[in-house]
Amino acid sequence: MNKDRNVLIFSAPSGAGKSTIVQHLLTRYDYLEFSISATSREPRGEEQNGREYFFLSKEEFESRIAAGEFVEHEEVYKGFYYGTLKSEVERIWAKGHVTLFDIDVVGGLNLKKLYGDKALAIFISPPSIETLRERLVNRGTDSPEAIEKRVAKAALEMTYADGFDMIITNDKLESSLHEAERAVETYFKR
Ligand code: 5GP
Repeated sequence: MNKDRNVLIFSAPSGAGKSTIVQHLLTRYDYLEFSISATSREPRGEEQNGREYFFLSKEEFESRIAAGEFVEHEEVYKGFYYGTLKSEVERIWAKGHVTLFDIDVVGGLNLKKLYGDKALAIFISPPSIETLRERLVNRGTDSPEAIEKRVAKAALEMTYADGFDMIITNDKLESSLHEAERAVETYFKR
């Protein structure tokens, strides 16, 4: 067991299949705990406050930035903030758990810099930009304009992949899941 290692970071262009991999790991390893981010965007579909995100108004988000309550925060999409509250990370560590971050690519790199060897940072890559577009269309949660925005952003985000400890290309889900399991077991040894 290595208690000095207590951060697991997942970043990916949206639609790369990151959430599926993250959910799988959370079910499999009791010592992993999801860090619930705060966001100023509206809830989508079945999302609930305090489960997928803490949904804050833009004003509240800004005042909590000013109060220094975030480990990191970013305007991931224009006009919409996302960030990790210090209180959330502390809550998880206090239980002796590994904090699992599902975070955008720039945020992921910032956290890796902040936590260094305490953290394993994994980049989930779609097999191609075209596959990514198809997945977003099939997911059916975004408008065509939103999809094009995400695709353009994804192309840029792919250029950051090398800054991560590991890249998993999510072509066949089954093998990506195994690859992620092996990485977690090797790094955290719990
Ligand atoms: P979505 O709106 O699809 O839930 O998330 C949009 C993006 O924001 C995703 O790439 C997600 O990983 C990222 N994100 C979620 N939480 C955080 C956070 O706390 N900080 C940062 N920088 N990005 C986040």
